[in-house]
Amino acid sequence: MTKKRIGKKQVQAIALERIYRLFELAEQEFEKHPERSKRYVELARKIGTRSNVTIPSKLKKRFCKKCGAFLVYGTNGELEEKEKIGNLKCRECGAERKVKLCE
Ligand SMILES: [Zn+2]
Repeated sequence: MTKKRIGKKQVQAIALERIYRLFELAEQEFEKHPERSKRYVELARKIGTRSNVTIPSKLKKRFCKKCGAFLVYGTNGELEEKEKIGNLKCRECGAERKVKLCE
């Protein structure tokens, strides 16, 4: 029996794709089901940990590390931009953190 082995790189590429997809879903569901978007963020973070994939900085700015909420600026989150560093605030739990703005 020949089994096709999937390399680590392929696993990570798939994981990254899933992470992007989950954040897309989180965005879509946010308005009607904010608790679902929270769940999607949780799943995306789990996939990242399990497959050793860093969540892209673009997406890192979209959730709160403390409570795991998906953040929509002006609704449940805020992003204050200061040159290359942003200050990300979560209105759900009040947590703040610095994020990189360059991409
Ligand atoms: Zn929070």
